[in-house]
Amino acid sequence: MADDKIKVGAKVEPLRKTRACAECGRPSVREHYPFCSDRCRSLDLSRWLNGSYAIPVADDETKAPDEE
Ligand SMILES: [Zn+2]
Repeated sequence: MADDKIKVGAKVEPLRKTRACAECGRPSVREHYPFCSDRCRSLDLSRWLNGSYAIPVADDETKAPDEE
């Protein structure tokens, strides 16, 4: 009967601080870090490709980049 007291204090603590999913804010999982799921990772990736990565191609060769 005395053994029951041991289990009470045994709390499972995460070794590392879990980071919130960059997409939805839920705790991320190891397999999809830093996202909580593959879906969130795909969402972030597609958004990144459609948004930030939108580089105008037309300007590419007509303009010579100034080197400093
Ligand atoms: Zn998520």
